[in-house]
Amino acid sequence: MAELRVCALYPELMNIYADRGNLLLLERRCRWRGIGFSVRSSDLGEELDPDAADLYYIGGGQDRDQKLCALDLARVKRDALHAVARRGGVILAVCGGYQLLGHSYQLGDKSLPGTGLVDLATVRSDGPRLIGNVAIEVELNPGVRRVLAGFENHGGRTNLGPDATPLGRVLKGHGNNGIDGYEGVRRGNVIGTYLHGPLLPKNAWFADWLIQTALGLDEPLEPLDDRLEADAHADARRAAGV
Ligand code: GLN
Repeated sequence: MAELRVCALYPELMNIYADRGNLLLLERRCRWRGIGFSVRSSDLGEELDPDAADLYYIGGGQDRDQKLCALDLARVKRDALHAVARRGGVILAVCGGYQLLGHSYQLGDKSLPGTGLVDLATVRSDGPRLIGNVAIEVELNPGVRRVLAGFENHGGRTNLGPDATPLGRVLKGHGNNGIDGYEGVRRGNVIGTYLHGPLLPKNAWFADWLIQTALGLDEPLEPLDDRLEADAHADARRAAGV
């Protein structure tokens, strides 16, 4: 039986807006299909095994918790995360986690190091926090455009460099910086986004894409009775006005 192995990075520190719900949804959607599921965690100071999981997850976090994690990512886990990305493993980072995927997170006169997995930099702005319901259009598979809906709340503004590709185009909301109309980042199977929601319960199709990709399956997963999830998605789209 196939098994999805997930590794949650800093599940206590980097977990706001019920990011845990994202892991729960992955578990349920695997189990409902008879796919095994296991989750392990990697906390401050713990070495990361780049082959121990199919999907690595970093949730959102407050600035003060991000500081601890940023230093740990840079000192302890950076090489392993690069090894995961090189072999095509899935890395999903939400909000605070997303901000640490790039080169740096500038907080006032301090610059937190990033993992350098993607070409982006984030700056904490003195301006208003970017808060609200958000919807973006993504094209994860060529020619197939879909909508991700969620909720964003961030003080940081993220700017992609020339080597980075956004995850999607903002339909409604602020996105990476409230200016350029882009949201998130994608480099192969490394994905960062500001969307909470939690993200996956509101976008079950995206959870399935992640499971399929992480397991390296050619065919999409068998459909489930997704009436509840479809309602959550529709509610989120309505809230975002899309
Ligand atoms: N601390 C970051 C910011 O405010 C991320 C917050 C979050 O994860 N919601 O920009």
